Amino acid sequence: MRGRMHRRRLAMLGLAALSAPLASRVAEARPWQSQPPLRPAPIDGARAYGYLKAICALGRRPAGSAANQRQRQMVAEHFRKLGGQVREQPFTARDPADGRIVRLANLIGSWHPERTERVILCAHYDTRPFADQEFDPIEARKPFLGANDGASGVALLMEIAHHLNELETPWGVDLVLFDAEELVYGQNGEYFLGSKHFAERYRAGRRAGGSGARTTYVAGILLDMVGGKDLRLPREPYSLRYAPRLVDQVWGVARQLRATAFVDQVGREVLDDHLPLNEAGIPTIDIIDFDYPHWHRASDTPEQCSPESLEQVGRVVTAWLSLPRDAVRPR
Ligand SMILES: [Zn+2]
Repeated sequence: MRGRMHRRRLAMLGLAALSAPLASRVAEARPWQSQPPLRPAPIDGARAYGYLKAICALGRRPAGSAANQRQRQMVAEHFRKLGGQVREQPFTARDPADGRIVRLANLIGSWHPERTERVILCAHYDTRPFADQEFDPIEARKPFLGANDGASGVALLMEIAHHLNELETPWGVDLVLFDAEELVYGQNGEYFLGSKHFAERYRAGRRAGGSGARTTYVAGILLDMVGGKDLRLPREPYSLRYAPRLVDQVWGVARQLRATAFVDQVGREVLDDHLPLNEAGIPTIDIIDFDYPHWHRASDTPEQCSPESLEQVGRVVTAWLSLPRDAVRPR
């Protein structure tokens, strides 16, 4: 993910509407009214952190790499063992430098596949090809592990998967790993290819009718850099603009659970996988610590992450998932 881009970049992304001044359009943070009893899943932060370390042990995992593929297979097997219905969503991209076709794939694990009203919990699983924020030239040559930026979201989805059979939720749940969020092809490269592909497929399915048209994603939660020590999660401006009620619900749950990483402030806007989903009509928020000091640096390693941070976010997300239907989507 990245911070503000200039208008040309936004237009290239097909997100020109976002390039207008944002501040005036950020929704007022409204207090979350109803207070139903919360039922967070018994998230095991230590187990989630173990997954984070296992993912990092695969080494650097840029899109199209063998380690990226190994990670996808590892998570697919994990989801299957825990009762998820697993499918890959393959796609390709062309490397503009040499015209080479790069094979990419999203991974989708579905619980309650028969339910037509669904939510998506998602994270990107590729890592930045290089540590572009690392200004020490020796450090910059080290492999970029992406412990927080890449592994943390996937690790938390792997932990949440343990609880989805037991969790009482009105929704079908899809855990989705996006490929190629970080794929960087020089100045004119494209970003978030995986979430764009997912959004296109969703739109096409709804247009085509048949079984695809029956699925409605009522909400999406993107987890990005949720494992850092000293985790701090302000409300992200694009999330506020596209999905203000969902932001209120999630930060309201966090307040009730005393999940103090979630702060009632507006943070910096982040261009991330939530934008293509929102453009496809899925109200999606980005839970992100964009002030993580090791962002895109060689020092983004497991030592900078903590089990407690992962546990806190997992509790909030699963408590939100188990809210009664009408608290999330009034009829
Ligand atoms: Zn990144």
